[in-house]
Amino acid sequence: MEFSESAEHQMLRRAVGDLTAKYGHEYFLERARSGGKTTELWNELGRNGFLGVGLPEEYGGGGGGISELAVVCEEVAAQGCPLLLILVSAAICAEVITRFGNEDQKRAWLPGLARGDKMVFAITEPDAGSNSHKVATTATRDGDVYRLRGTKTYISGVDEADRMLVVTRTGVDEITGHAQLSLFVVDTDAPRLERTLIPTEITAPERQFQLFFEDVEVPADRLVGEEGAGLRQVFFGLNPERITGACISTGIGRYALAKAAAYARERSVWGVPIGTHQGVSHPLATAKIELELARLMTTKAAWLHDHDADRNVAGEAANMAKYAAAEAGLHCLDAAIQTHGGNGMASEYGLADLWGLARLLRIAPVSREMVLNFVAQQTLGLPKSY
Ligand SMILES: Cc1cc2nc3c(=O)[nH]c(=O)nc-3n(C[C@H](O)[C@H](O)[C@H](O)COP(=O)(O)OP(=O)(O)OC[C@H]3O[C@@H](n4cnc5c(N)ncnc54)[C@H](O)[C@@H]3O)c2cc1C
Repeated sequence: MEFSESAEHQMLRRAVGDLTAKYGHEYFLERARSGGKTTELWNELGRNGFLGVGLPEEYGGGGGGISELAVVCEEVAAQGCPLLLILVSAAICAEVITRFGNEDQKRAWLPGLARGDKMVFAITEPDAGSNSHKVATTATRDGDVYRLRGTKTYISGVDEADRMLVVTRTGVDEITGHAQLSLFVVDTDAPRLERTLIPTEITAPERQFQLFFEDVEVPADRLVGEEGAGLRQVFFGLNPERITGACISTGIGRYALAKAAAYARERSVWGVPIGTHQGVSHPLATAKIELELARLMTTKAAWLHDHDADRNVAGEAANMAKYAAAEAGLHCLDAAIQTHGGNGMASEYGLADLWGLARLLRIAPVSREMVLNFVAQQTLGLPKSY
């Protein structure tokens, strides 16, 4: 077992951190508040090969895995620029296409994704919620095309991406009654695909949309993998999404704790720095411990995914990492805000604006309750409640 970080990973961290530091949290915030996008940062990450670091070299990637993408994702967030679209584009979509796409599809989409093209991911539906067996958006074969009908909700970044990977139902398993799922790559400007913005209280450049597929025609060669085998494919892609989601949380945690520790060392109100008081230092130390535990589990989860570990083992670690990281990220941010006193609420200190995003990561890409269900049932063997 090797717990020290490799020289390559350390170099990758430094390179991504230095690149992102040129932009910094003020840039992120200005874009988020003005309705702009972090395009320059995203494109520079793409040009330098960081968004494609986990993709195979023959398709323009860096030849690494989710472990490397996790480093990129965390470092970007640790500089105060958490980028949600890394989760969907570089993690889930790219991983699913790499693993299940045919040769033509890989050649068509992976080099672009490695350079920084964006592909978003659409599984959530208003009525299905956390239950992917109830996905109701249908894809019906009609000659050379499939016709998609249904509604997706909270789909991030549709306005920034050319394509999206859409989870549909193409049949029903007669024994279980569960939907048989199939994945399609759909152009975001396809005719009869409508979208409406869902306003949220998250301060981030990415926007969320409700999508209406009103008989959208998708060429049959846009089917990724086997028809009806989409659930297995989605589950494979959800681990990278959870791992990179965890990295956004730990990155926010690192960003917040670094600011808090610096402030607690400097700020003096009773003649000594406030960090002298254990009422201030202990919450920061506790948050740091939680953060490092979460980072350890996240590293393990990425390693298991990259080493093709047993599906349940890899899934368990990714779920646990996501849970622990979301909690740790929030605790770090909360402790950092408290350490800043009134300044914790001031825009100038760049902390409170991250609350919505840090809080979101308790809900998405998988909610803490669904992680607890997984651990209770799969790990502890407890009866299923639903
Ligand atoms: C900002 C944002 C961005 C998003 N981006 C995307 C995206 O790009 N693509 C995409 O497909 N989706 C996206 N989502 C959707 C997100 O993944 C879902 O919101 C999340 O998985 C929870 O599903 P839900 O909202 O339908 O909650 P529901 O399933 O309605 O659940 C509501 C609450 O009940 C709890 N609950 C439900 N069932 C159980 C149970 N059996 N046991 C215990 N508790 C339960 C849940 O944990 C949750 O707290 C995004 C959401 C947000 C808010």
